[in-house]
Amino acid sequence: MNRPNIVILGAGYGGMMTASKLQKKVSADSANMTLVNMHSYHYQSTWLHENAAGTLHHDRTRMEVDSVIDTNKINFVQDTVTGIDPDNKKVNLLNGEISYDYLVIGLGFEAATFGIKGLLENAFTISSINKARLIRQHIEYNFAKYNNEKDKKQERLNLVVGGAGFTGIEFVGELANRVPELCKEYDVPRENVRIINVEAAPTALPGFDPELVEYAMNSLEARGVEFKLGAMIKEVTADKLVYEQGDEIEEIPTNTVVWAAGVRGNSLVEEAGFESNRGRTPVREDLRPNGYDDVFIVGDCALIMNEETERPYPPTAQIAIQEAEHTAGNLKRIVEGNHNLEPFEPNIQGTVASLGNKDAIGVIFDDKKIYGWTATAMKKIIDNRYLWKVGGAALVLKKGKLNFFK
Ligand code: FAD
Ligand code: NAD
Repeated sequence: MNRPNIVILGAGYGGMMTASKLQKKVSADSANMTLVNMHSYHYQSTWLHENAAGTLHHDRTRMEVDSVIDTNKINFVQDTVTGIDPDNKKVNLLNGEISYDYLVIGLGFEAATFGIKGLLENAFTISSINKARLIRQHIEYNFAKYNNEKDKKQERLNLVVGGAGFTGIEFVGELANRVPELCKEYDVPRENVRIINVEAAPTALPGFDPELVEYAMNSLEARGVEFKLGAMIKEVTADKLVYEQGDEIEEIPTNTVVWAAGVRGNSLVEEAGFESNRGRTPVREDLRPNGYDDVFIVGDCALIMNEETERPYPPTAQIAIQEAEHTAGNLKRIVEGNHNLEPFEPNIQGTVASLGNKDAIGVIFDDKKIYGWTATAMKKIIDNRYLWKVGGAALVLKKGKLNFFK
């Protein structure tokens, strides 16, 4: 193989970081490198809850791929992957097909709906720029509509979020900031609007530090968020959400349910025949799936185990970025004829979650708890660091979160 064809699928955290590192490590003379993505732009999934609530414009979250990737070195194909055929080393696209010698799959996450009745048809998910825009527009439409109907419909103003994991908590934090603005804009009394977070576990953020969970709930409740804990969502219709709490079945009238209660890897990976564990593919220590030495999986499609806890690592951008950097290094070895690949070891630097634009919680450096302004500033530093890594100072200046006092 003279110049191997390296194909990267998806320009999310995993795909972009793989491409960005490869263009620095591997010369275009020694490999053909191609990045395939359904849109011309890359977006940061970790900011989508802000776009969905309407607290941040979606153009801040996305950037054109060719503004970050050198398309003289990495060929960019804007197309949608429709299937992967690992036995014939081919990827089917909406508008053709592409062959590879080495494939990096970074096709990201989709909502896990657990077969809950009516969820797919009636709930929104925070899973892409366009889905986030839809949530924003839907909420604004309902505020506008509320005052233009004779019969005031409370379901228009009941905003229900399924799941109080990190996505649910970060989203209700943004809603808590946005709702007072919407009330002012659309002449709706604030006390008429409800923000309700429904969580199946007995606590919000199950498994996270209890002191910080309490801090987060107090901060959110003080801004009007209601929590229903130990409440398992059973069904969603066009005008209500049904949940079970204790032995009781309860209903909330609403036409806005945002499902933030779980993710899985992109179904295309399972459909390709790779092993699948609840929608994610177990990979070996060099991030290749069993049986395929020419495929690497990075980000939310990959499942890696934490040997200490004997549980899978949660799918995060932090891990996707590290896996991508690591995979670029291993591809460089392959291109140079060295097939002894390095094993991947995640380096978890902490977890920081926003509670709107002025508050946050986190654990950093193993066990240091942070909250309030310190955590808010740390979250911005983490966000800016990614932009720095992928696009340097120019990208930080263009898209970064540089105001630490707002
Ligand atoms: P993604 O970033 O989702 O990228 C996948 C890419 O593939 C996208 O560009 C998509 O357009 C493209 N694609 C998908 N299907 C196709 C197709 N068929 N054809 C072509 N292209 C396709 N993690 C953290 O570590 N810290 C956080 O603070 C954090 N906050 C989050 C906040 C929210 C609201 C959400 C939803 C998640 C958050 N996460 C966070 C998790 C993090 O976003 C994911 O773990 C991360 O995005 C995974 O990266 P990825 O590269 O695997 O996928
Ligand atoms: P998650 O799986 O972490 O949380 C989902 C929550 O929904 C859980 O608390 C679960 O108990 C609840 N749930 C599940 N089924 C339910 C039902 N039927 N009714 C009510 N509640 C139900 O999912 P997520 O919050 O979307 O996070 C996905 C991944 O992204 C995680 O790995 C997370 O760590 C990561 N993430 C990280 C950050 C951050 O670091 N700031 C922010 C967002 C997401």
